[in-house]
This record gives sequence, structure tokens and C-alpha cells, in this order.
Amino acid sequence: MSSRSISFRLVLWYSLLLTGIFTALFALLYFNVGRFLQNDMSTSQLRHAQQISNSLLTNIRLTGEDKLAAKAKEFFEPESNDRFIRITRESDGKVIYTSGTPTDDGFNPANVPALPFSPETEYSRQIKLPGDKTLLVTALKYTSPDHQDYLVEFGALLDPVKAMLNHLILQLALGLPLAIAIVTVGGYWLVRRALAPVEQITRAAERITQHNLNDRLPVTNTGDELERLSISLNRMIARLDDAFQNSIRFVADASHELRTPLTILRGELESMAEDGRLGTEWRERAASLLEETEQLSRIVEQLFTLSRLDAGEAQSDCSSFDLAELARTTAEQMNLLAEDKGISITCEAGQPVTVEGDPTRLKQVVVNLLDNAIKYTSKNGAIQLRIRAVNGHAILEVEDNGIGISAEALPHVFERFFRVDQARSDDSEGAGLGLSIVKSICTAHGAEVDVVSVPQMGTRFRVKMPLHKN
Ligand code: ADP
Repeated sequence: MSSRSISFRLVLWYSLLLTGIFTALFALLYFNVGRFLQNDMSTSQLRHAQQISNSLLTNIRLTGEDKLAAKAKEFFEPESNDRFIRITRESDGKVIYTSGTPTDDGFNPANVPALPFSPETEYSRQIKLPGDKTLLVTALKYTSPDHQDYLVEFGALLDPVKAMLNHLILQLALGLPLAIAIVTVGGYWLVRRALAPVEQITRAAERITQHNLNDRLPVTNTGDELERLSISLNRMIARLDDAFQNSIRFVADASHELRTPLTILRGELESMAEDGRLGTEWRERAASLLEETEQLSRIVEQLFTLSRLDAGEAQSDCSSFDLAELARTTAEQMNLLAEDKGISITCEAGQPVTVEGDPTRLKQVVVNLLDNAIKYTSKNGAIQLRIRAVNGHAILEVEDNGIGISAEALPHVFERFFRVDQARSDDSEGAGLGLSIVKSICTAHGAEVDVVSVPQMGTRFRVKMPLHKN
């Protein structure tokens, strides 16, 4: 998954957000549990302090302070319960009772500093003791029936609560990554599911070219944004299709309409160029105009061919035939043109190579490629035409040792009206449409055409098309 994909970014943000929320919730839980446990302990300590006051201090004058220790031991057993009890008289600050060291030796009561008498009648304090222990002590001010004030302190170690909180934090720390992992995997699955139609729409959109503009994108029927998007895109493709068909029709109609007047013009100019009644200058002018008109006719013919190919009329005469044979005869026919420039055409076409398509159109491919090879190869050059069958494909190559094409121009040679440099050729016929026609015919036949070229060394065009399946 690419780090720039929507799925990745959604899952990342979602996981970060949930990590933040989970961490905040877990922290809140930890602190609230801690506070609750401590409050609960303070409340229970206060209850004990009240019980001590009521049972030991109410009749202290009658029972006597010296009996206090025995009674406290009898009723509350602070040592065996690991509790701390201390009773202080306010009038002289005398400690009249302190519980002994607990049986588990958890703390030493002698180390517990006295809590002050304060205006509050009850309060709790945490007291740090040696050995990293904390004692929670709740103090209660008690006034006996004989108006004597006492401070009753009741305490216990906070360590079990701390241990419980430590256990809780460990569980939360282990649970957090697990919860985030589950949520992330679940989120990723949901996002992938939600965005799966986008993948289908993208793949379908990539398959749509000018040749299949009547194809449409899949519509999910989910009533969501993606359904609306694919419907809108389909409407856009339909509008593009209309505009494209209009432009094809316009070029086809325009070139068709131009053919007749151009034929008449050519005929007229031909007869003028040969008309002995006209002076030499006028005949030469007519001959020059005739050349221009012929060039114009060729362009119109090429535009007409391209518009028909764009309209999908490439394979009107589809049949299976031997491409090697077709290439051989075409090369023989073009040999005359090559010989004029002292160029030799060698044809390597041994075995029959059967393909399926329109032979007239495919002949045009061979003609255009050979024509270019002759045009852009200097005198006494050599052209090789090779046809062979390789791995279920027919390979047709036209290689010359001519002027070649620069690396900057190479990617553009199949574009319409692209010419590398008119000054390179003494020929003024080309309009930059020959290779566009080759490309269109190849595409219509499911073939690929590519070119490699080294300036001043030569050029090789290669057509690869599927062999005919019996
Ligand atoms: P044109 O009809 O002008 O030749 P093409 O579409 O056939 O147009 O070719 C486009 C350009 O590619 C040409 O202008 C030419 O410079 C270059 N080109 C095509 N074939 C060759 C070749 N075999 N050697 C060198 N240049 C070539």
C-alpha cells in the first residue's frame, strides 16, 4: 500500500486518533480508579476512627487511660490487621495510645509523625515512611462527654492499592497496543472494502481510449458518493464520445468533400502544364501548382484514412493471410523507388507468417515504413525488411542505415503532423501523417509499433502483432 494512498492516510489518521482517545480514556480510568480506591479507604478508616471514639473514648474517665491499650487490642486487633491507631489528647498533646508494630512488620508506628490538631474535624493524609512505603492516615477530632478533645488517627499502608494500580496500568499498557492493532486491521479492512469500487473504476477508466469511448465505467448501485462519481464520469465520457465522433465526422466529411474539387483542379492543371498554346513560363507555373495540389491531395487522402481508422473502420476487409508474402511483394514494388536513390531493399521472409486483419491496411503499414526508410536514407544506403513469427506473435521490422532520429524527437514521431526537421529531407511530400496512420492501423489490429534510432546510424521500426489462431 502506497504511503500516499487514501486508504493508507485514512487508516493512519484513524489509528492516531484512536491511539489518542484510548490513551486519554485509559489515563482517566487509571486516575479515577486510584482516587476511588483511596476515597473508599479513607471512608472506611473514618468509620473505624468513629468506632474507636465511640467504644474507647466515650467513657474514658470511668475506664481509665491505662485500660485503653488492652481494650483497643481486644476490639480492633490493629497489629494482626496491619493497622495503625493513635489517640492524642489535645489539651496537653499527650499520646495516650499507639498501636504496636504490625505482625507483617510493614511499618514502624514510632516513625509515623503526629498529625496536627486542625480546625477540620476529619481529614486524611498520606505519610511517606522509610522503605518507600506510604501510610494513609485518617484523623478524627472527638470531644468526649466531659469536654475533653482527642485526635483519633487510624491508618493503613497504601501499598496494596498501589500494587493494584500498578497491575491495572500493566494491563492497560498491554491492552492498548492490542486494541489499536485490532482497530487498525479492522479499519484497514473497512476502508479497503469501501474503496474497492475506486480500484475497479480506475482500471476501467484506464482501459478507455479514443477507440472504445462507447465503453462505460462500472456503477456500484450503492447510492453513495462513488455511485454518483461513476455516473458523472460516465456522462462525461458520453459527452467526450459525442465530441470525438463529431470531430471524426467533420474531418471525414471535410476530406471527402475536398477530394472532388482537388481531382478537378489536378486535371485542369495537368492539361495547362501540357498546353502548347501557353508560354513556357505559364506552363512551368501550372506544373509547380500541380505539384502543390498533388501534395494537398495526399494530405487530404491521409486525413480521410485517419478519420476512417478513428471511426473504427480499420478491418472492413478482415481475413487471415500471410504477412511474409504481403511484405515480400510490397518490398518488390517499392524496389523501383529505392533503386532511383541507389538504395537496396533486402527482404528476409522465409516461413509463412499468418495473421488476421485487413491486408490493404497492413500493406499500407509496410509501404509507409519502407517509404520513410527510403526518404530518410542517403544514396547507396541499405534497408532490411524482416518478418518472422516469435512466441505467438508476428514481428515485422524495417531497418535502415539512414540519418536516424534524435532522442528528443523520437517519442513524438507517431504524433499527427509531427515532422522532425523538414530541412533533413529533400522531399517536400511528407506532412507528418505517415507514422500516425501506421500507429492507428496497428492499434486497430491489436498490434504494437515501436522505434529505436541512432542519429547518423539508422532507424529500426518494429511491429508486433498476434499470429492468427487456427
Ligand atoms: P512524413 O510523412 O513527414 O515522413 P511521418 O509521420 O512518416 O511523416 O514521419 C514523421 C517524422 O519521423 C518524419 O518527419 C521523419 O523526420 C521521421 N522519420 C520517420 N521515419 C524515419 C526514418 N526511417 N529515418 C529517419 N527519420 C524518420
